[in-house]
Amino acid sequence: MRCEDLADRLTDFMEGDLDAEEESAALEHLASCESCERVLAETRDVVSLAAEHGRPELTAKDRARMFSAITSEMADATEVVDVGKIGDAGDMGDVSDIEEVGGMGSSSGG
Ligand SMILES: [Zn+2]
Repeated sequence: MRCEDLADRLTDFMEGDLDAEEESAALEHLASCESCERVLAETRDVVSLAAEHGRPELTAKDRARMFSAITSEMADATEVVDVGKIGDAGDMGDVSDIEEVGGMGSSSGG
């Protein structure tokens, strides 16, 4: 049995729905494959947590809170740029040199 095969049967394995043959093959693989053993342990944790707490459902409010938390963290991360130093370095007064990017219109065939 390979990792993919085991991953395919993981839930059946945990629920005891596998054939005896498949189950022993799964156990054999788990004994020799560290990563699959870890996956099984983690999956068991999640399943037991879900069983304890019932179905974990996010309300719209929860989602909004999560989203705002994430976006505020991202905003913090982008604020690292030190603007003071740039202003100190030289004259940032005239910015008329900026070229305009245009020409999204026609593309040459080729
Ligand atoms: Zn494996």
